[in-house]
Amino acid sequence: MTMDMNDTNPFLSRLMAKIREPRPPLPPNQPFFNRIERVPAGLYGEVWFRTGGCRWDRQGGCTMCNYGRSEPPQPDAMVESVRQALLALEHPVDELMVSPSGSLLDPAEVPEEARRRIYALMAAHPASVLLLETRSEWVTPETADELLAIRPPGRGVTVEMGLESVDRWVRRFCINKGGSPADFARASGLLRERGLGVYANVCLGTAFLSPAEAIDDAVATVRWALDNGADRAVVFPLHIKPYTLLDVLSRDGGYAAPSLWSLVEVLHRLGPTLAGRVEIAWYRSYYDREGKITRSPDTCPHCRDAVVGLLDDYRARQDHGTVDTLSAYPCTCRDAWAASLAATHGARADRVATAYRSLANAFGLGNWLAANGGDLMAALYGAPSGRKGD
Ligand SMILES: [Zn+2]
Repeated sequence: MTMDMNDTNPFLSRLMAKIREPRPPLPPNQPFFNRIERVPAGLYGEVWFRTGGCRWDRQGGCTMCNYGRSEPPQPDAMVESVRQALLALEHPVDELMVSPSGSLLDPAEVPEEARRRIYALMAAHPASVLLLETRSEWVTPETADELLAIRPPGRGVTVEMGLESVDRWVRRFCINKGGSPADFARASGLLRERGLGVYANVCLGTAFLSPAEAIDDAVATVRWALDNGADRAVVFPLHIKPYTLLDVLSRDGGYAAPSLWSLVEVLHRLGPTLAGRVEIAWYRSYYDREGKITRSPDTCPHCRDAVVGLLDDYRARQDHGTVDTLSAYPCTCRDAWAASLAATHGARADRVATAYRSLANAFGLGNWLAANGGDLMAALYGAPSGRKGD
């Protein structure tokens, strides 16, 4: 994995490792998890299957993410769990996503032979579009060629990659994403020149950002993604999951899951022209009864069903008229959300520096930060990420 030092954050990596330390492994009795949603193409089916976990997560990982870790299953078991999951899909789906906890293309997470057998299972499925998820660094000419080779005639293969934010400062100091927007653009180019599809995953509600900053960040990231190789962008309003920085921050009021009104605002600002290329995902929780999520994006009990229903409608048709209806929907919680956008939060670098010191003390990293954090803390206040996409 190549990475510019300017994109690394050794403090957040250490902090995330501490936060994850007590995390129990995923139960071996759930080798897969399926869900189905209505989308413009018909039905979208997602198959998650258990692996050892994301490689990036193992060295600390992203501040919002927890798809779990476990003892790595044998390659045969991974393939078998995908086979079982496909048999268990309750409806014939038009779009089929098969994804592990991290990257299907990372050979340390899914060994190459298992990956090829999983590709064969996907290709044998009648869905018109096959999707998979990976971090961009695993997209190479070789892995892209392999995808092209498995694409059944007349059907699409699309790779979904986490871009999260196009702002390098946000990626480094708020997410600990590693990699760069430039690597996303590189990977997109390799896929597009082979006629393969590209989706960009975009976060809404990143740690340390105010609600207004989070909306700006998501809107700018979607626009950049669509201009830099992505066929579509998928906006994810963040949930608070156990063993994440979001969970730690939320315990003393330092973070709240984004309002669904913020998601509506992102769609409103992107406007009708882009609606056909902007999807939404995870605006509702599918895991409520399993303890995998602490808090989800929400509105209030009075309007929740109506708002989520309209978001289902947008997910199903991507018709911007639904966004207009939502933008005019009256509720006192919407008024409170609008007022929250005007609140002042001070300079974001001050906010992050204060939080880092407090987190360092709480997690036994105070000495480490004092001894080794000089460059990082200086960079916090350095020139803004500026050259977006480098
Ligand atoms: Zn409400």
